Amino acid sequence: MLCQNVLFRDALLWDGAGSEPRPHMDVLVEDGKIAAVRPTGDAVRSSDAQVVDLEGAFLMPGLIDMHVHLIWSGSPDPVSVVDTEGAQLTTVRAVANAQTQLRSGVTTVRDVGSNWDIAITVSRAIARGHIAGPRVVASGRTIIMTGGHDPFWGIPCDGPDAVLRGVRTQVYGAAGVIKVAATGGVYGRPEGEEIGQSELSYEELAVAAGEAHRFGLRVAAHALGTRGIADAVRAGIDTIEHGIFLTEEIVAEMKRKGTALTPTLLIYRTIAEGGRAGIPAYAVEKAKKAVKAHRESFEMAMQAGIPIVAGTDAGSCNAPHPSLIEELRALHGYGMSRDAALRAATSTAADALGKAAEFGTIEPGKSADVLVVDGNPLERLDDLERVRYVMSAGRFFAGPDRRHADSTVTA
Ligand SMILES: [Zn+2]
Repeated sequence: MLCQNVLFRDALLWDGAGSEPRPHMDVLVEDGKIAAVRPTGDAVRSSDAQVVDLEGAFLMPGLIDMHVHLIWSGSPDPVSVVDTEGAQLTTVRAVANAQTQLRSGVTTVRDVGSNWDIAITVSRAIARGHIAGPRVVASGRTIIMTGGHDPFWGIPCDGPDAVLRGVRTQVYGAAGVIKVAATGGVYGRPEGEEIGQSELSYEELAVAAGEAHRFGLRVAAHALGTRGIADAVRAGIDTIEHGIFLTEEIVAEMKRKGTALTPTLLIYRTIAEGGRAGIPAYAVEKAKKAVKAHRESFEMAMQAGIPIVAGTDAGSCNAPHPSLIEELRALHGYGMSRDAALRAATSTAADALGKAAEFGTIEPGKSADVLVVDGNPLERLDDLERVRYVMSAGRFFAGPDRRHADSTVTA
């Protein structure tokens, strides 16, 4: 479908690039990109642009969720749902979840784990225009040790050669990011897996990082326990997922190397409180042990000023798609300013993806990934739920005015 040129008139603009919000601003979108940003009234009207008068509504970059699992249902035990439903129904579910994300204002998701590489297929289908959806940066299957975390979508790799082959397998499969398991987890298995246990060794992690970087891909490490986090950071992993047991030394090393943290605050609280909801008991017990340390580690990382990005684990136990606004509330609840929380889900996230030049802010030349809401999320994060328009790469996806909706998806 051809992109339409659009002039958003009279926005309260928060560009995500560090400026204070500016009232009475116009944003011109041409050929799927931001073409101009100027005060309302300046002559920016291009001859064929459709004018969308915002009357002071809040315009910001589309949101980025840095940790999702599109194939998962968000039920108490999503692994069992995939086991029961199989690959085909799971693929349809992943498409529906992707579109639900976009409808809520999330224009990019990083998917860090899917059976059968389904998220990569969804990513390609969206990029080719077969279906509407957010940009999906997908890892597909995870590089794990034999018996490691997330065996259901893991490629067991023991030793540097096997890890090299695992990374190349995912590169060949068109992964947009490489995911590795550096430690055990909470929602994994009842026996043989502990959250503090390191899994892939330093040598294996270093091979994964080196080989992925050689192909221009970033690496995300599932890493909860201290030893595994330290190994991952030293090995050159780009983003630490969860990071529950950090130390001052690790945080200093992350700061020095520019390693980002995806704390996924909400999911561990959700699991810790989820016994009666049907979340497996072993996972509830593990999560209870993690919640206090998680908060302390997050505060340590925030005070040190390392890049913190917003990720939800949406799809996981009792975390339906989308969950990003709840995660932003959790970040704010633990002391992050609303402005920093919004950057964690826009410009800081795009930077951690290595895509800061392409999207994540409202600036000329960037992809026209635009969210318009009523109210002001810098004063009330809840206002992010008051979606007026969602535009992805210059195409309207959601909005109350049906003339603006993409015809590919009408829900
Ligand atoms: Zn996850």
